[in-house]
Amino acid sequence: MTEKLHEVDRAVPCSMSNTIGVAAFFLIQNILRLRLISGIARGAAGPPRHSGFVIPGGFCSVLLHFRFPLRAFPVVRRAIYPGSFDPVTNGHLDVIARARTLFDEVIVAVAINDQKQPLFAPDERLAMLRQAITIDAVRVAPMEGLLVEFAASENAHAIVRGLRAISDFEFEFQMALMNRKLDPEIETIFLMPKEEYTYLSSRIVKEIAKLGGDVSAFVPPLVAAALAKKFAPQLGNIASVI
Ligand code: ADP
Repeated sequence: MTEKLHEVDRAVPCSMSNTIGVAAFFLIQNILRLRLISGIARGAAGPPRHSGFVIPGGFCSVLLHFRFPLRAFPVVRRAIYPGSFDPVTNGHLDVIARARTLFDEVIVAVAINDQKQPLFAPDERLAMLRQAITIDAVRVAPMEGLLVEFAASENAHAIVRGLRAISDFEFEFQMALMNRKLDPEIETIFLMPKEEYTYLSSRIVKEIAKLGGDVSAFVPPLVAAALAKKFAPQLGNIASVI
């Protein structure tokens, strides 16, 4: 009987240490698992497109990756700023600079098959933008077809648009909702330029330049020169009529 009691005495600490060990194992495992799951949730809630891979939960997730399939996490926040840029104005450049503070990379997408009848050919618009943009991590690219498809092909998860006045809102709102319908993973964000650019548009700049007005306050110098060159023959005709 005494021997039996001794056996029980020995057995109790032994089974207790086993229980503590098992409990500790499950606790650590669950902490690691939670870390991994919260990493996955963050990834799911965040921008879905990516151009690189990080391992959530660091080394721990390597240990657990047989239980939870690893998924890629976005490391580059990339946005598309689409438009006709016919030609680029200081308002566009202001929006690009603002977008760049929010995203790691901004792609300025020049619409090629725009329904508007552009004054400048696509190559001219691309070249002017490339020369006018002086900040890093901004790429200028031609864009044909659907904006959401272009954004997906570039691994971008946001579309940036500029909002100048209420008059922009209706069209922009319609376009943003349609793009969301076409690709729910791409978010549209609107940025407001400096007040002094809120009345500025490519169309108004072209009208001023066409009539021989000074547009140097509204566009980069190279664009002002290109506009002057474009309208020089017309201005010559106006002068000869007068
Ligand atoms: P525009 O409307 O002048 O012809 P785009 O088609 O190139 O210009 O416009 C591209 C985007 O840039 C649109 O979202 C437009 O609202 C925005 N944008 C154009 N001009 C300005 C400006 N002065 N300030 C802020 N956003 C602008």
